[in-house]
Amino acid sequence: MKNRHHFFLLILIFGCTNSIQVSNETLSSKPEITEAELLSHIKYLSADERTGRFPGTQGSKEAIDYISNKFKSSDVTPAGTDGFLQPFEFITGIKVDNTTRLTTGLNSAMLHKDFIPLEFSSNGKFEGSVVFVGYGFVIEDSISWNDYKGIDLEGKWALIIRGAPGGVHPHSKFKDYLSLRKKAMIAKDKNALGVLFVNQNGDNDLPKLKHSPNSLSIGIPVIQIKRNLANQLVSQKLNDLQIKLDETSQPQSFMITKQVSGEINLKRESTLISNVIGVIPGNDPKLKKEYIVLGAHFDHLGYGGEGSGSLAPDSKLIHNGADDNSSGTAAILELSSKLSKNRNLLKRSVVVMGYNAEEEGLLGSKFFVNNPTIDLSSVAAMINLDMIGRMSNQTVTIGGTGTSNLFESMLKETNKSHNLKLAMSPEGFGPSDHASFYVNDIPVLFFFTGTHTDYHKPSDDWQGINIKGQKKITDFVYDLTMSLSRRAEKPVFKESGPKQSSQVRSNFKVTFGIMPSYGSDAKGLKIDGVRKDGPAEKAGIKKGDIIISIKGKEVNNVYDYMYRLEELKAGEVVKTIILRDGEKIVLSINL
Ligand SMILES: [Zn+2]
Repeated sequence: MKNRHHFFLLILIFGCTNSIQVSNETLSSKPEITEAELLSHIKYLSADERTGRFPGTQGSKEAIDYISNKFKSSDVTPAGTDGFLQPFEFITGIKVDNTTRLTTGLNSAMLHKDFIPLEFSSNGKFEGSVVFVGYGFVIEDSISWNDYKGIDLEGKWALIIRGAPGGVHPHSKFKDYLSLRKKAMIAKDKNALGVLFVNQNGDNDLPKLKHSPNSLSIGIPVIQIKRNLANQLVSQKLNDLQIKLDETSQPQSFMITKQVSGEINLKRESTLISNVIGVIPGNDPKLKKEYIVLGAHFDHLGYGGEGSGSLAPDSKLIHNGADDNSSGTAAILELSSKLSKNRNLLKRSVVVMGYNAEEEGLLGSKFFVNNPTIDLSSVAAMINLDMIGRMSNQTVTIGGTGTSNLFESMLKETNKSHNLKLAMSPEGFGPSDHASFYVNDIPVLFFFTGTHTDYHKPSDDWQGINIKGQKKITDFVYDLTMSLSRRAEKPVFKESGPKQSSQVRSNFKVTFGIMPSYGSDAKGLKIDGVRKDGPAEKAGIKKGDIIISIKGKEVNNVYDYMYRLEELKAGEVVKTIILRDGEKIVLSINL
């Protein structure tokens, strides 16, 4: 409830619920696309009651029900795996079981007080001796620092100081070597049994255990211990050791006689969440087997907070997400009702979709393309609507215009009766659900009215929506969808720009030319796509293959893969082992 006056007003209104019900029904039954209906969808989806539609929450479930009911009342045919729904697993959190224990030397440590496992630790019992390896660096560039020089870690634990000399800050010359996962991977590659992390001088806090996409197990136990425990282990002042490291920039590694032993039990909690999928069949005997996919994500950031993607991370307020992306979802609802009413005009069929968990890494759309409920190769085009509620100056940005031979001309043709300013950009890849389709060689279009000061903040409320602009875009998309559905010629896919984000690309000196799967739980790295004429394709790698080792080193998931990629150099021929239909195949990839 925003404020008191509204509250009394609501009691008054609810006194006569019947009338509201009627008005909503009359609103939704009108197949035409209207500002009033668009706004009523946005108001419902971005209301405080929906609590920001974080996946798996009650508010998200209400949004799913709302979308399914609207599809139903528009006579859209269910196309999920459970009616309109396509359920899939979503990791919601991670908990440490209190059977988790640690003994260092003769001391048994207290869980949460003296130690805590990190979210990417493996589970299981363990024991072994310990080696102090400073910052755990193996740096071969101008810095040249190797804490493992002359150290045999085989079957031992590594005790590593987090951070680097001079502390952790964006300008640190060690910034590329600070990631805990990376430090632990180095120790693992040195055959460490496990890793003990300790904070730098002056910081004696234990980190909070929290779920993050980085939570996939690294394959060895990883624990953070308090400094007093580390001091006991090294039987000298860790302070002095670190000062020596920082002043000399020389490794100070040595064997520790004391043993560690214990057990880790982390429980990854998950829940089933759903995409919402419907289809409006076309009429042409041949073309009706092809699909135009119209989609928008309906999830948002919930109450925000650290690591949520909120741009107001300190505010624990409802992130209503009116523009992001109640606006796109509202458009999908109006489009489905009008297209359904005029289905006799459709030749190709139209799939309407609400994606879940887009803000968590495009999880819903990725799950769909990896588990499609229609034949993915018969998708002629995918149109993604994400943040179309803040049009200014009659302008709409359309991404992906270069991903098919037809798009630019069709957009200009459609615009003759709409006169919008079309800011076209050819690249197919981008920070929303169309990327999941683009990497599967499907022509995509991405409609977007731009970011704004309320983006990813609690203030992204319906009052900020330019409903006139939203209606114009929705009408435009209606006409475009109708002409794509009726056009004899199927858009031909064209690669337009990279198939992964610039951020990912910038960390690596080389590329395999594959699209890694972020959602798969297979052991190893599942491949979602292979770039034409890329190193991987030339070596014979195919979509669906699973990489299990690179250059003789294990690859358990996408993070291991990224870590291995960082170690490789251009021109190297890399022995890579893949699994295809359970069979191991050894390939040489020429980078
Ligand atoms: Zn969005």
